[in-house]
Amino acid sequence: MAENATRRLYYEDPYLLEFEAEIMARTEHEGHPAVVLDRTAFYPESGGQPWDKGTLEGVEVLAVIEVDGTILHVLRSAIAAATAHGRIDRAVRLDHMQQHTGQHVLSQAFWELLKGETLSFHMGPDVSTLEIGLKAISDADCDRIEDRANAVVWEDRQVKTYFVPEERIGEVPLRRPPKKQGLLRVVEVDGFDYSACGGTHVRRTGEIGLIRLGGTEKIRGNLRFEFLCGGRALRDYRAKDRSARKLASAFSCPPADVTGQIEKLSAEGKALKKRARRLEERLAAFESQEIIRTAAGRVIAGVLEDKTPEEARFLALNIIKSGEFAVAYGASAESQGHLIVARSEAFKADLRQVVPVVAALVPVKGGGGPSLIELVMADTAKLGDAVGAAAAWLRENT
Ligand SMILES: [Zn+2]
Repeated sequence: MAENATRRLYYEDPYLLEFEAEIMARTEHEGHPAVVLDRTAFYPESGGQPWDKGTLEGVEVLAVIEVDGTILHVLRSAIAAATAHGRIDRAVRLDHMQQHTGQHVLSQAFWELLKGETLSFHMGPDVSTLEIGLKAISDADCDRIEDRANAVVWEDRQVKTYFVPEERIGEVPLRRPPKKQGLLRVVEVDGFDYSACGGTHVRRTGEIGLIRLGGTEKIRGNLRFEFLCGGRALRDYRAKDRSARKLASAFSCPPADVTGQIEKLSAEGKALKKRARRLEERLAAFESQEIIRTAAGRVIAGVLEDKTPEEARFLALNIIKSGEFAVAYGASAESQGHLIVARSEAFKADLRQVVPVVAALVPVKGGGGPSLIELVMADTAKLGDAVGAAAAWLRENT
């Protein structure tokens, strides 16, 4: 394998963004043409780092994957030429280098300060995550980790890569034992962190720019941290700062006071809701008295255009408590029709028998007990018919 394996140009120079290569083999991958090159600057997905984006002979590279040591470049369309000009997407490559080098620094900071071992790393399109062998962490410790990692960034330490034969790897103070065998590639953040890694990294820690820890969650008894480096951290800060300023201007207060204002608003909202409910109850009591006073018979029915289903139900219950009545009310909410049928305890009719009568007119969901049912229909145009059918049943059966 070693002689005809693809030469990995990204090992030698992660800043190399254009290259010429010979096409050694052509194949297919999941219905797309794919090629093997004699050399490549494209990083194949591995070790938590996604593949590079870019083009080969102007054709979009859809994926770069490693299958049994062979690097496959999966293409949008086939290339006829024997050689290909490769072009790596600069912004994506730099972003990956920032996130990956930042991960090394962060992992070592967790180890150095808390003996928190890095169990896994994943670089997502928006945020990256680190699973650390810790059960819990305080905000103060999160700050210490972040401060230590950023101090290493600001020291602008050199990031070196070199190969070490497996039998001599014991001489390198690796943070984690290597997963691979043979000749091992070591990435050293000068005197701070030593990792066996095949990824792409920046030359100096200063290029990481900024390391920011995000949200934490428990996973498999460990902690998973979100983190952002470089351009991602800047964009995140910019977006959050904008939204904090907008909120502050909406509340006419400094950004730091926004959470206090929201808490105050939320408490006011709760108090208002409570007061509105009490007023609704009083109104329903008055309304039910008026309805009863003018009722033509024991069955009261209608579609209540200006009431929510909850208000209609409340009114129906008030009416049946105030005398011997049976009620069929319709009300709509969120483009669904609600039919509420209720009767006083004095009547013995089982209102569940109304369900098939209404269901014969319009598809309904819901049900209830002998003295109260509530049916919901998607076809609001049929609500009037449903109320009429329920009222007719009540006249016959109460
Ligand atoms: Zn790495």
